[in-house]
Amino acid sequence: MGAHAMTSDFLIVGAGSAGCVMASELIRRQAGSVCVLEAGPSERHPLVSMPFGLVWLMGSTRDWRFKTVPQKNAGNREITIPRGKMVGGSGSINSMVWFRGRMADFDSWDIDGWRGADVSPAFDALEAAIKPTRFDRAHPLSQAVQGMIGTNTPSPDCESSGLFQHNMIRNKRHSSATAYLRRTKHVKILTGAHVDRLIWAGDRAAGVVLVDGRQLRANKGVVLCAGSIASPAILMRSGLGDQSDLAALNIDTRQDMPEIGQNLHDHPGIGLHFQGRGTGHGLEVRQWGKWALSPLNYALFGRGPLASSTCEAGAFFNARGDSATPDVQTHFIPFYLAASGSRYRMKSGYFADVCLCHPKSRGSLRLASANANAAPHIDLGLFNDENDLDTMVHGVTRLRKLLHETDFGARRGAEFAPGEDVIGEYLKTYIRNHAGTAYHPVGTLRLSGPVTRQLRVKQTERLWVADASIMPQVTSANTNAPSMMIGWKGAEFIAREVA
Ligand SMILES: Cc1cc2nc3c(=O)[nH]c(=O)nc-3n(C[C@H](O)[C@H](O)[C@H](O)COP(=O)(O)OP(=O)(O)OC[C@H]3O[C@@H](n4cnc5c(N)ncnc54)[C@H](O)[C@@H]3O)c2cc1C
Repeated sequence: MGAHAMTSDFLIVGAGSAGCVMASELIRRQAGSVCVLEAGPSERHPLVSMPFGLVWLMGSTRDWRFKTVPQKNAGNREITIPRGKMVGGSGSINSMVWFRGRMADFDSWDIDGWRGADVSPAFDALEAAIKPTRFDRAHPLSQAVQGMIGTNTPSPDCESSGLFQHNMIRNKRHSSATAYLRRTKHVKILTGAHVDRLIWAGDRAAGVVLVDGRQLRANKGVVLCAGSIASPAILMRSGLGDQSDLAALNIDTRQDMPEIGQNLHDHPGIGLHFQGRGTGHGLEVRQWGKWALSPLNYALFGRGPLASSTCEAGAFFNARGDSATPDVQTHFIPFYLAASGSRYRMKSGYFADVCLCHPKSRGSLRLASANANAAPHIDLGLFNDENDLDTMVHGVTRLRKLLHETDFGARRGAEFAPGEDVIGEYLKTYIRNHAGTAYHPVGTLRLSGPVTRQLRVKQTERLWVADASIMPQVTSANTNAPSMMIGWKGAEFIAREVA
């Protein structure tokens, strides 16, 4: 395609959780013609629709495979940040756990148009399309988690545990790609379209330049839905960011906006690993028959381990046990997970983690190079605030107690990592050296920071951001549904603005 060969009213950069909803909703609201630019390939692949497929998708070419810079308060480790690289974005690679978050999360953002009462109608509309359901083929261990604490409908609003809701329909992934984008006529979808930077007409975003040199034009505007890592990076390559950082990379600064890329954070998490014969799913010899039949069992009946998104159940509770308001979330996985090295072991087991609902630590994202093929410097700032570590230690201590009290019967395993004797200061050190995240990075283009409450990038015209990057603070639970909500709300704002 030659320069300027294609023009649409709207260019949407990124067909992820938010981008797919944005595209469909702009069409439904008759805001104009829409073209979605996605760097990765189509999501039409058996490992994407099959729930257990994510185990192989992570680390594959459908994952951007980012890493953090060494985390100085987390053992100087580079922590993995998987991000989906295909239509559906991270929503095509995720565990499909569905939570709105607490309505109090949105109230505490304290931004007009984004309080709990403002975002509820968007969630209602999304849930009518997605129809999240409880996973009804859960492993007996996951079912036992229902009795772990509080009510058996897990919710970040109160201490609770049980089977999670998932965005799956008939044992297949039902993402914003399948529920929205693919069901909408008249959206152009360009895969393999990796956006480098914006084309400007004065302060107006007039189009984009792809990494391969192609240029595309937008009559009405450009919407960045490339996620918390890529959206700020595209703005920086387009001359918006910290002036001295951009100058160091020979990028001409159009607007000095040092807040772009700040406020990066994620839910930190630490896992407890259990093993024992006849406990959870695993490759122990007695389960070989089950695994051999599993493709057939899944294809014919939608059953067996391949029908599981792995993260079947979990809990919300208060780490110190001194309040009824949860501050940690547990994901329960009834599969043997190795703590290090090869993941294929002839063992059986299960896994439960402690993730902080409201991390205090903040990091930042900066470009490493003006070249769009280079990954940015991603600093999650893990445990920069020591309070986060304290809450994790209390959370692990309480989770161990709760798991002891749970009726796993003969399927109870033994904790092999970190090991029950790892407590106190040793546990703190273990967490520093082993914690990861729940894969929920947010905040790099926060509302009322570089982005207005109607999602327009400040100091610009006809340029909006709608993805997880705009969250001022991460919601209390998993971030897919909130990201889709942001796409939905964004379309409402944009359609109104251009009407
Ligand atoms: C392994 C994993 C498991 C998870 N599990 C859960 C879960 O169970 N439940 C839950 O609620 N959340 C989960 N999450 C988090 C959730 O999926 C994300 O918060 C959500 O998908 C973010 O949506 P987004 O629209 O901001 O970004 P994304 O969905 O990541 O979309 C960004 C899109 O932009 C594309 N893109 C990026 N750069 C460019 C560019 N330069 N040009 C063109 N296209 C570009 C990407 O390829 C991608 O398609 C998980 C995430 C991961 C990675």
